[in-house]
Amino acid sequence: MDFGGLNLDRKLKSCPECGHALDYKGLGEYFCRSCDKKIYDDYGKVRHFLEEYPGATVVQIAQATGVDKAKIRMMVQQEKFVINGSSGGSLM
Ligand SMILES: [Zn+2]
Repeated sequence: MDFGGLNLDRKLKSCPECGHALDYKGLGEYFCRSCDKKIYDDYGKVRHFLEEYPGATVVQIAQATGVDKAKIRMMVQQEKFVINGSSGGSLM
């Protein structure tokens, strides 16, 4: 059965800034032709952050991206990312 989980893969449909339809680029990344800039969904934000700061902890990611810690952990559990901080069971 498919309950849709926590909708980690939910796609953005329109630009949060101007409402224009977005082009989906893949991996949580979108492009708004009206604003002429990239937009990221939660997954895209976390992925983008980890590209710049590989090895960041869940707490650091959450603070930087504003994405809920539980949601980040869910992404990690689904092996979308590998992050540091899990040794010694201290991962929040
Ligand atoms: Zn826009």
